[in-house]
Order: sequence, then structure tokens, then C-alpha cells
Amino acid sequence: MDTPIFKNKKTFMFEKLIPELLSHKNIGVFSHVSPDGDCLGSQVALCLWLDKNGIKSVAFNEDNPPKNLEWLTEYKPIIRPNLDELSDFDAFVFVDGNALHRFGKVAMGITALKKPLYMIDHHPQPEEVFKEFVSKTSASSTCELVYNLYAEHDISQIDESSAKAMYVGIVTDTGSFQFDSVTPETMKAGASLLEHGDFTPDEVVQKVYSSRPLKQIKLLGLVLETISLQENQQIATMYVTKAMFKQTGTTKEDTEGFVAHPLSIEGVKACVFFREDEDRIKLSLRSQSDIDVNLWARELNGGGHKKASGAFYKGSMKDAIKDVIEIGSKQWTND
Ligand code: 5GP
Ligand code: MN
Repeated sequence: MDTPIFKNKKTFMFEKLIPELLSHKNIGVFSHVSPDGDCLGSQVALCLWLDKNGIKSVAFNEDNPPKNLEWLTEYKPIIRPNLDELSDFDAFVFVDGNALHRFGKVAMGITALKKPLYMIDHHPQPEEVFKEFVSKTSASSTCELVYNLYAEHDISQIDESSAKAMYVGIVTDTGSFQFDSVTPETMKAGASLLEHGDFTPDEVVQKVYSSRPLKQIKLLGLVLETISLQENQQIATMYVTKAMFKQTGTTKEDTEGFVAHPLSIEGVKACVFFREDEDRIKLSLRSQSDIDVNLWARELNGGGHKKASGAFYKGSMKDAIKDVIEIGSKQWTND
């Protein structure tokens, strides 16, 4: 086959958004609550792009970054937003989420400021509050989209910091280039980032994945003990309780990435990880089959992607597991 996948076929995805962004002086950039590698990577890389092009940017998040991603804030500090202080900004950009509520309480009140809101994201069904946006559900990650923004404007503006930040998001949102969301374009973006940033993959991957404290691995041990297979051994459930956090001296941030483990069990099509928070249970849903966990999560007032979604549940752990499996089971008993 002679399809030239490396031949640069320009698509100009950012044709409208780039001039819009460049028309402002000060822009606030938000990443979603409970931040992950993709939202932080795309936020940092976008801020660096704005700064490089003469626009003052400030990165906002209502939550702290997880420990293994704190190093990204050396490239760009991430600040807790306060609605009263946001009126000085000309515009706001939201990355890796497409509904204001995903960005926390301050973001939910931001329309009152009557400033243009922009969005760059890869989740389905965007909310209709954005003046301009790039929304591409087939993109592996928001970082792949931000890479396209750089590529369409001036690829030489990618430096080591922005390249590493974008690489983090692509790696973490694709399970290290393993998911079916990975396309030749994703690989091409990864290769280009290594080239422009002049770093090797292990420099970033070791920071993200090999910096776990021992207590986190001890917690993982307890959590793996809770794995249970349901619905003909095809759905895995796993949970973490407040008592387990206490026993190991860990917090909810320490469970990042745990949900992937049950998917390595033979025959498992989907998995739900239940995390006991202060007053509710956080669900993380993952699929490696036709089971659409976005539909599943939406029935629980959450959402996400077909293969990775999240939601919250009010009630006991026992009820959560029972109810969530019952809701999901409609998908595989209907056909
Ligand atoms: P995680 O399980 O890692 O928290 O989230 C997986 C995916 O689902 C991510 O794309 C995330 O943005 C989305 N997601 C997680 N929790 C929620 C939620 O409560 N509501 C919505 N709409 N999406 C969520
Ligand atoms: Mn993402």
C-alpha cells in the first residue's frame, strides 16, 4: 500500500480558533476537575503557546494535580480560580472537557462574565456555550489536538516543555499507545513531539509511571483483592474504601490508573472501579468491547467516552455495585 501517512495533509482544524485566540490579550485556560495527564498536558501546552505568541495566559484548576504530574506545573503554574478575579480576562479556553460543570464551581458561574468561551476537546456531545471550538471525538487525546494547533500555526514553536506536556497527555489517554483510539496521526504526533522536544520516551514515562510511593502499591494490593467478576465473568468490579485509604496513609489521588488492572483478566469486557469519597462514590468505567461505558455513565448522570467514562453515586458501596451493574446489564441483555 502506498498511502503516504507521513505526507502532511493539511486539515486546518484550527482555522477559526487560532485567529480568535490570537485576537485577545489575556486568556484564562481551564482544565477539568480531578485533573489527569491529558487535561494538564493540553492546558500547559496551550498556555505555553499563548505566551509564546504574546498573549498572557493563566492556567486554572480547582483541584491539585496528582503527585506524578506535579512536575508539569514547573512549566506553567496552575492556580485555583476565583470568580471575582476573572473579570480581567478577555476570554477563557476549556480543555479536555466540553461542559462547564466538568471544570468545577467557578467555571459553572463564568457565563455571568459575558466573555467569549472557547473549547478544545475530544468527548462527545459538547455543550452549546462555546463561541468557537475544536471538538474531535476520534482524536486519541486533547493533547493530540493541541499538537495540531501548534502544527497548523508554527510547528517550530514546540519546545521541550510543551512537547513533554503534550506527550504526557497522549501517553496517558491511550494507555501508552495501546487503545483503539490510536491512529497513524497519533503516532505521527508522538514522533513529532519527540523530535521537536528532543527527549526520549522514557524521560516522560518514568516520571509519570515510575514515581509511585510504596504506600500506593500497598493500596493497590488491597484494592486488587476486591476484584469480583460478574455477568458471566465478563464484567469486573473493584473498589476502594475510606478504611483502605486510612490503613495505607493514602488519598483518592493515589488510585489514578488502578481501573486498568481488571481489564487484563482473560474474558473481561468492561470494568467498574468504585471509589469511596467523603460523601459519595466515584465510579470509573472502562470497556474493551462493544459495551459503551459513556451510555452507561450517562444513565448515572456522568459521561466520558465509549471506552472510558466516569460518574458519581450517592449511597452505600454495596448498593452502588448492585445498582451500577443492573443499569449496565441492559446493554448486554438487550441483544
Ligand atoms: P476517570 O474514570 O478517569 O475519572 O474518567 C474517565 C473519563 O470519563 C474521562 O474522559 C473523564 O473526563 C470522564 N468523566 C469522569 N468522571 C466524569 C463525570 O462525573 N462526568 C462526566 N461527564 N464525565 C466524567
Ligand atoms: Mn482526554
